[in-house]
Order: sequence, then C-alpha cells, then structure tokens
Amino acid sequence: MNVPILMYHKIQLDPASSDLAVSPDAFRAQVACLKAEGYHTVSLRLLSDAVLHSRPLPKRPVVITFDDAYQDVYTIARPVLAAAGYTATVFVVSSALGRHNFWDDDKGLPRETCLGRREVKALAEQGWEIGSHSATHACLPKAEDRQLQAEVAGSRRALQEALALEIPCFAYPYGAWDERSKAAAQAAGYYAACAIAPGTASVTADLFALRRVYVKPGDSLADFKRKKSFWYLRYRAWRKR
Ligand SMILES: [Zn+2]
Repeated sequence: MNVPILMYHKIQLDPASSDLAVSPDAFRAQVACLKAEGYHTVSLRLLSDAVLHSRPLPKRPVVITFDDAYQDVYTIARPVLAAAGYTATVFVVSSALGRHNFWDDDKGLPRETCLGRREVKALAEQGWEIGSHSATHACLPKAEDRQLQAEVAGSRRALQEALALEIPCFAYPYGAWDERSKAAAQAAGYYAACAIAPGTASVTADLFALRRVYVKPGDSLADFKRKKSFWYLRYRAWRKR
C-alpha cells in the first residue's frame, strides 16, 4: 500500500537553523494542499488494521507524523491541523516528557522544549495518536540487549503509565533500525514502527519499518506535492532496488 506517511520534527519561524524544521507558512500551505486535494488523515493504528485485516480506509489517506514531540507541535501545528479537521501522530521520547532534546546537547544544537504530560494528553483527547520514540533517543542498532529493551518496551510502559493511554506505535530514533530492534518493537506489543527510508517495495510492505516522506525545510510546495504522490512513492521503491 502506498499511503504517504509524512515526517515532520519542528515547525519553526527560523527553519534555516535546522534541517529538521519547517516554517509555519510552509506547513500551513502543505496542510491546505492536502485539504484541497481531498486527503483524509488516518492513524498508524488504522493503517496497520487496513494492511492486516483489510479494514477500509477513507479516500486519499495520509498519515502526518511528528518526531521528538516539540512544543511547537502543540502551539503551531495543532491549531492548523484542527482547522482542517485533521489529526496526527506524535512520537514522544518517554524520558523527555516536559524536558528538552537532551540527546542533542553534545552536538551543540539549540535546546527545544518538549511537550509535557498535560499537553500530550490534550492532543490524545483531540484525537491524536501518541507513539513512542524510545526512552532516551538512543541509536537502537548500537544498543546492547538490556538498553534495547528499556528503549523499546520500557518507553511504551512508561508512557502508558504516565499518560494512561495505549501506545500503539513506535518510531526508531534517527530512523535507525535493524532486525533486532524490529523484533524488539514487535515483542513490545506495538502495531507498527516507523523508519525513514528502508527501501521496501511499498510504503507498508513492512509494518515494522514503515517508509516515511521526509518533509524538508527547503521543499517548495511543488516538491511537497511530488514527494507525497502515489507515483513518487512507487518510484522511490523502484530506485532503491
Ligand atoms: Zn527523533
């Protein structure tokens, strides 16, 4: 199935500061484009049900995801999406709830506030899907067994406890995964896990390595339209062969 799964991190006024940030204007234009083209947002849970149990999806489905759960997801992206009648999936680093991107501290990157428990709960109440993005944003293929368990299964337990919600999905930090981390995500009870560019034949060929569309700060609206199109999603699989 070639459903576009869009990957965002920060929505920021000064997107030049990072290759992970998209400006609010660009984000608004992208959401308006999805709306004009008749897209409907779906959760990863719904997408996995469609793949596994042939559950019907709405016409022109799209999944919108945010990694790291920064504050601007709540302050900027949420109202834009709500006005369009859309929801999204946000991947939370369990030990960063209400803290900041501490995993970037040694890289000299700016500090960004992460969402707190109450904001994440408010998103869930507004229909958003809450996923785990590990416990400490560790690179999983480099983690030894115990740490891998803590990052994958431990973060799910911690978030479920802190938020009193079911956590159905996972996103590999840095998009880095291997067979071991995939097996850990399956064993932890997730329904699906997001990668970035695993080179699979279709977007959903592997529910534990879902391919995402990386929306970049420099993307024009034409780039955005092309990257999420059915033909481009198919072409990317072909190019990877
Ligand atoms: Zn991340």
